[in-house]
Amino acid sequence: MKNTSHLRLVSFLISMLLILGSCRQGNKVEAPSPQDFESFSHRFVEALWQQFPDWASAVGYHATDHLLTIPDASNRAADIAFCNQYLDSLKHFEIPGMDVHSATDIKLIRNKLKAIIWETDTLREWEWNPSVYNPGSSFGYMLGGTYAPLDERLMAIYQKIIHLPAYYAAAIDNINNPVEEYTTMAIERTKGFAQTLSGKLSDSISISGLDEETKHNFTERISKAISAIEAFVSHLENDILPGLNDMGRDFRLGAELYKSKFNYNLQARYTPDEIYDIAIYERDETYTEMLVLTKRLWEKYFGEKPSSINLQSVDLMIEKIAESHTHRDSFQYAIEAQLNELTTFIEANDLLTLDADKPLVVREMPAYSRGISAVNISAPGPYDANEATYYNVNKLDGFSTEEAESFLMEYNDYMLQILNIHEAIPGHYTQLVYSNKTPSLIKSIFHNGTMVEGWACFAERMMLEAGYGDHAPELWLMYYKWYLRIISNTLLDIGVHTKNMSREDAIDLLVNGAFQETAEAEGKWVRVTRSSVQLCSYFTGLTEILDLRAETKSRQGDAFSVKNFNETFLGYGSIPVKYIRELMNQME
Ligand code: ZN
Repeated sequence: MKNTSHLRLVSFLISMLLILGSCRQGNKVEAPSPQDFESFSHRFVEALWQQFPDWASAVGYHATDHLLTIPDASNRAADIAFCNQYLDSLKHFEIPGMDVHSATDIKLIRNKLKAIIWETDTLREWEWNPSVYNPGSSFGYMLGGTYAPLDERLMAIYQKIIHLPAYYAAAIDNINNPVEEYTTMAIERTKGFAQTLSGKLSDSISISGLDEETKHNFTERISKAISAIEAFVSHLENDILPGLNDMGRDFRLGAELYKSKFNYNLQARYTPDEIYDIAIYERDETYTEMLVLTKRLWEKYFGEKPSSINLQSVDLMIEKIAESHTHRDSFQYAIEAQLNELTTFIEANDLLTLDADKPLVVREMPAYSRGISAVNISAPGPYDANEATYYNVNKLDGFSTEEAESFLMEYNDYMLQILNIHEAIPGHYTQLVYSNKTPSLIKSIFHNGTMVEGWACFAERMMLEAGYGDHAPELWLMYYKWYLRIISNTLLDIGVHTKNMSREDAIDLLVNGAFQETAEAEGKWVRVTRSSVQLCSYFTGLTEILDLRAETKSRQGDAFSVKNFNETFLGYGSIPVKYIRELMNQME
């Protein structure tokens, strides 16, 4: 008895001391330190890769390459439990006093975990989009990768491939009244995957150093996997597709799902309806600017004063200017020369600091990414940060004379400059160099595509406004054509998915409303029937950055400096613009 009351007294005193102690700190519990959060986020990311191994392979984390998640109900339940568990753990860090960088990381993690729960429970693509069953890409990374010797990569594939029959059985079980467009896409892709297994994978095994018994077992595993793939394709082709006949689920997402997906993916300040209205307004403003420029240029190119200027005249003017382009053999050279000019201009005009220690390597487009775009940036991921950044340039030698001419007219002397600003300096490449200076695994894994694309589009505007290209009306006219593309992408995506826009209206929007070729417009229609939301990221990101610049200018008045704005903006890493806005506002 005595002992117990003594213990009670001691525990009472300890409680009192704790209360008094916390009173002295103004009722505040001490915030976890940035180090606490850092070690939490490392544990979280390790667990994340165990739970989502395909995602891990895609970002260059290879320790879980051999795993394949079976997409069945118990795994979906495990995904949700994982997300809820970590949403709970995050509460420990969500308190006033956390440093701003950790606080932003927490918001990014929270958004992603909630998005996964929403995708699993509400969006339910696993039911209606057969193209989500695409393990081909992770097998592709492993087979074509250079991160480990061939035998090592093959052994991970050897362990992974054994699960493919269970994987496709679960997929067949899940699919219920799918979208016809996604079903067709899944059939195409899955057939391609079977070819990779019987072709490239089998060839790699035969030249590898694996022992004969493993090679033999491997071949058996491949043939079982191919049978499973064939069963999946046959299910889609014979059991599912004939029954859809326009009776399947609509590829249009519908306003409600679209709005949530837009919020989770873009993490912007605007709703789809708001950004749609802004895009309509900006399109009218852009037409006005284009008409003025066409009027100014007309006599120079057509030798007489224009009688009247309308959008058809703008179209003719764009065609005329596009005739000025580089020779097919010097496309890559023209790009390299322009990158030097861009660097010189930025330094001379003090627009932002460029880091000469992280050079951009211009090279010919590697075979695996040919045919998609004229150029692209291939940047190292979080797990191979010391690798170089490459500017891949399409080689034109496979093109016929006609194809080359059409390609070079699209990427004419003026458009090529805008493209280089966007992709390289001070667009994607420069942004990435800044982003890597705020080393946070979370920010690089959950980077915000809207900010990244928004910045590249902002860079175009910022350079032209600063006088790059000497304010040439040709360059501005091409810029506006480019700008119209991102405006129209937004109108198209929101129009099709939430406002029932027809194919005919969509083609009209792009061809007559944005001066695009019919072939390009038809390709864009296919893209919008097979994706949603992503097409809005460019215009939405740009709009938010232009808003932020305008706010900052009006607040700072004469003290506003372009360089200071650019560097401060880029200094927070690739996080949503709305968070950068909060942080910039807090700082002043
Ligand atoms: Zn881009």
